[in-house]
Amino acid sequence: MKARVIVLGSGTSHGVPMIGCTCGVCRSTDPRDRRTRPSIFIDVDNGPAILVDTSTDLRQQALAHDISRVDAILYTHSHADHIMGLDEVRRFNVMRPGAIPAYADERTSADLRRAFSYVFDPPDEKGGGIPQMTLTAIHERFNVGPVGIQPVPIFHGARPILGFRFGSLAYLTDCNRLADEAWPLIEGLDVLILDALRHRPHPTHFCIAEALQVVERVKPRQTYLTHICHDLPHAATNRSLPGGVELAYDGLAVTIETAAAFASADKSENKWT
Ligand SMILES: [Zn+2]
Ligand SMILES: [Zn+2]
Ligand SMILES: [Zn+2]
Repeated sequence: MKARVIVLGSGTSHGVPMIGCTCGVCRSTDPRDRRTRPSIFIDVDNGPAILVDTSTDLRQQALAHDISRVDAILYTHSHADHIMGLDEVRRFNVMRPGAIPAYADERTSADLRRAFSYVFDPPDEKGGGIPQMTLTAIHERFNVGPVGIQPVPIFHGARPILGFRFGSLAYLTDCNRLADEAWPLIEGLDVLILDALRHRPHPTHFCIAEALQVVERVKPRQTYLTHICHDLPHAATNRSLPGGVELAYDGLAVTIETAAAFASADKSENKWT
């Protein structure tokens, strides 16, 4: 099945422009230098609409890209920039009756239950609406309806987190190292969306040079770098990158071929229809 993948947000945790910053990138008039918090959206033809992370900017991202339906939510990890838009799920609940299934690793699931206890352990008294979500801890590949999804183990500093492979595309944000088991899981990619914060090294994110080493080994047809800070002006940085590698930007859309549902999968969810 084909799917349209939209980069909803290509920025680092502060977003670009950053509050109070007067640098050239934060003051740039190039719309590609305006980066909201990291997230992607996978809209499968005649299939589910899958959101990766509920970024701080989810409301603006959904409005900007006319997203009215979300059938499943995948979490990479529980840092604030990736989860703090969770309450916006209430609107998706209105447009798609029933709880929306969400998937995360064990640690992120526990963090979400704590950070959003009003959602996952709601108080008795009913007042304003709360998001309706189910949360499933995943370890292995799993299915969302007819779509097979492969978690990819990566490291964000010392913390193991998840990237995801959707058929011909892999999304590896917030990482500075791939687990040994990750490499065979990302062979033969058409599109790799990969963390590259800036030129200077960082303890929990790939810098550009490190990201390019990953690209060299994985050899995807096309790579887009994401989770970008205000050090990198879009146009000038792109001119300096090798062929087949570009900076992502908010609104970037690519068409991919998803994987069919796995016959043996950790968890299956068929409620997307
Ligand atoms: Zn992040
Ligand atoms: Zn700046
Ligand atoms: Zn993070």
